[in-house]
Amino acid sequence: QATIKSSGKDPYPDWKAGEPAPYAALCTTFSLIELTTKRLQITAYCSAFLQQVLRLTPQDLLPTIQLMLNKLAADYAGIELGIGESLIMKAIGESSGRSLSVIKADHQKIGDLGLVAAKSKSKQGQMFKPKALTVRGVHQGLLDIAKMEGHGSQDQKVRAINKLMASADVSSASKQVDITKDKGGPSEAKFLVRFLEGKLRLGLAEKTVIIALAQAVVTHEAAKKGKVPSTDQLAKGEAQLKTVYSELPSYEVIVPAMLEHGISNLHESCKLQPGVPLKPMLAKPTKSITEVLDRFEGKNFTCEYKYDGERAQIHYVAPEAMADFPAAKNTLTKDAKSFKGLAAIFSRNSEDLSKKYPDILEKLNTWIKPSTKSFVLDCETVAWDPQNKKVLPFQQLMTRKRKDVKTSEVTVKVCVFAFDMLFYNGEPLVKKTLRERRELLHEAFEPTEGEFAFAQHGDAMDIEEIQHLLDDSVKASCEGLMVKMLDTEESGYEPSKRSRNWLKVKKDYLSGIGDSLDLVVLGAYHGKGKRTSWFGAFLLAAYNPETQMFETVCNIGTGFSEAVLEEFHKDLSDIIIERAKPFYSHSTTKNDQPDVWFEPRYVWEVKTADLTLSPRYRAAIDEMGGKNGISLRFPRYIQKREDKKPEDATTTKAIAEMYRKQQVVAKDGHGKGGVD
Ligand code: ATP
Repeated sequence: QATIKSSGKDPYPDWKAGEPAPYAALCTTFSLIELTTKRLQITAYCSAFLQQVLRLTPQDLLPTIQLMLNKLAADYAGIELGIGESLIMKAIGESSGRSLSVIKADHQKIGDLGLVAAKSKSKQGQMFKPKALTVRGVHQGLLDIAKMEGHGSQDQKVRAINKLMASADVSSASKQVDITKDKGGPSEAKFLVRFLEGKLRLGLAEKTVIIALAQAVVTHEAAKKGKVPSTDQLAKGEAQLKTVYSELPSYEVIVPAMLEHGISNLHESCKLQPGVPLKPMLAKPTKSITEVLDRFEGKNFTCEYKYDGERAQIHYVAPEAMADFPAAKNTLTKDAKSFKGLAAIFSRNSEDLSKKYPDILEKLNTWIKPSTKSFVLDCETVAWDPQNKKVLPFQQLMTRKRKDVKTSEVTVKVCVFAFDMLFYNGEPLVKKTLRERRELLHEAFEPTEGEFAFAQHGDAMDIEEIQHLLDDSVKASCEGLMVKMLDTEESGYEPSKRSRNWLKVKKDYLSGIGDSLDLVVLGAYHGKGKRTSWFGAFLLAAYNPETQMFETVCNIGTGFSEAVLEEFHKDLSDIIIERAKPFYSHSTTKNDQPDVWFEPRYVWEVKTADLTLSPRYRAAIDEMGGKNGISLRFPRYIQKREDKKPEDATTTKAIAEMYRKQQVVAKDGHGKGGVD
């Protein structure tokens, strides 16, 4: 449990009940968090601040949480700041009266735009004192910036950032900015800029904020009765909030409900429902069929074909059920022309894909049975060849336009392969067994060739039968199998979790590390010989969600066709930055530096022979003892992953897990390992 107590003493003393939460107060908390790496301490600071919000200005709880998470709204709202480094530098310059060249020089020297902003503010004289920033004011200001689009929006954004910057650091709490000390102190300008860059770099993972929020609410509720909560009560509150959030990931819905009904009744008012997409359940990779059998020994399991398309979550409410889901009207599309009811298709990141797949929505009513009134469906959209009646590879699907497609413009036909259902006719299904969910799934829909199908499955039990199914799946143009727990509690649907109850067996990777990796492009090297006009090799990284850092994992120069290199040169040239972002963890040795650095934007799928330790890279370096990071041997580019964001890249934890498994195999005498 938290080691610091709020003990009635507020972390920020100048703020009065009923007043808007001062942004300086939040920044004070941020700077306390910045000075520690201890998770319990971070949680305690966070919780103490949230308790103060609950006590003094509860209506600011939602924007506070959003600013802590560096998120302006739920993912499905599709609100992104998308502000590049050059725009931020321009705004810092204009708002502080310093020239762009001075800002750039400072950036080269300091390496952190947040600190450059803090320094610029501290050098600025103030003719008159603007009003201090508030949490809700900053949230709204940033939201307005995110919504600006179209012609002239870049200048508009700079002006709006200037406005926020002009009011930054005017309150007494943030006046003392000394960038040489304490990482710049509680400077509002620093945290504003970091928010704009997309990373607060406080080690404030979402998990921590959820725990802190639960602790704050439980403590606040107990305090109203003059009590201090027990450890059990705190733990129960955390578990309740985590479950509710995993099924209904929307602070916009949860926070007001929690303020109104308290935390213990939250699961009554906040249930999984159509209209609020949830993060899908994910699978663990495996290297062999025997590994699968070891895991599921003595349990019932099922093998499904693993289709190679795009993960999709389809939400639907029939016209006669609309009154039961008032919130769905805001997020689901009503389009009387193409289907009856409300519906939307969400990506694995909860982005709305409805405009990408109008053809699926148009056919919806042909495969939904009349008795099906509402559902949330987990499925894969796969490119389909209508002539030969078979599925096509992922690359084919990626050639479809991402937005604003008209059905008449669709060139690549898709078929929906359904494998799970999370909500059906008014009821969440996640606690039911997979066998039960599958029965309901088959009850709810009517397959139509080339448009909607159930994922093919077989209940093989031994190694030969599974091998057979695996071969069949590959013959049917699938990637391999998904092997899933079928009965008992363990077969429940676990949103947002990479679970041991779902294992993926990919035919192509059985001899390697079990899976390909999805990595973020951070830098590049100019090409030589035939490749002089393009980049010849790239620096890739995995993601560490705990520290929110991108940790380098390999250089790659193999697997690219000339056309691909040309395309990447064009795309990546637009996002070159002057130096590595402070949230890149990379070798500082001179010879290891790429020629150019990029904003973190593109995710590539990469195959490797095996994993090794290397002092040149930083992936999972802490877990490996601090000297060597994990690196890929003979990495080979496979394809772009446009359906993944940099934060969805393979985690350093997953890479460490793969490395450890490989070492176990090596000890048994089959693998390689060692330091490069
Ligand atoms: P991950 O989803 O594990 O992060 P990924 O997107 O690279 O990684 P894979 O590792 O290839 O995907 O495997 C999991 C994905 O397989 C799922 O996210 C889903 O999109 C797809 N899939 C295809 N068929 C099925 C199925 N029958 N059951 C579950 N998922 C399936």
